[in-house]
Amino acid sequence: MDFPGYAIGGLSLGEPKTTTFEMVDLCISRVPEEKPRYLMGVGTPEDMVEAIARGIDMFDCVLPTRNARNASLFTRFGKLIIKNSGYAEDFSPVDPECRCSTCKKYSRAYLRHLFNTGEVSALRLATIHSLSFYMDLMKMAKDAILHNCFSEWRMEFLSKYWSNQTDEEESKENN
Ligand SMILES: [Zn+2]
Repeated sequence: MDFPGYAIGGLSLGEPKTTTFEMVDLCISRVPEEKPRYLMGVGTPEDMVEAIARGIDMFDCVLPTRNARNASLFTRFGKLIIKNSGYAEDFSPVDPECRCSTCKKYSRAYLRHLFNTGEVSALRLATIHSLSFYMDLMKMAKDAILHNCFSEWRMEFLSKYWSNQTDEEESKENN
């Protein structure tokens, strides 16, 4: 029907990941390659990278902002649960490779303190970081595609992203 772009929705609602991506593949095969493809409600950095590999161009999701407000931050080294006790005296930035204003000015320990004392600025600082990370993620993926090295970049990104599993484990124990 020659729409200016195509949205793929109704996915990522609790179905197994393999089903999500089978359906993404099926839809992708039926929409024109030159038109923007938008995957609704996805998601996590690893799912976005997976979807980009399959030909998705655009996303929207509450995850970066909602998680940030709950003290769960996305970084190049995986998810960081800033309230964890291990960050009490960690004066490094949330993500040492991030150039956002939160990472430039504040430490993990300070952000943890703001969350623990109920300071509303914590929500804003965490959200600034997570949105910057998502913007950088898309830029990195785009650059990798333009330089014809997406597969290598994807492997490198994911191995670094999955390197920090301790926060996830500690968070589960605390729940
Ligand atoms: Zn940052």
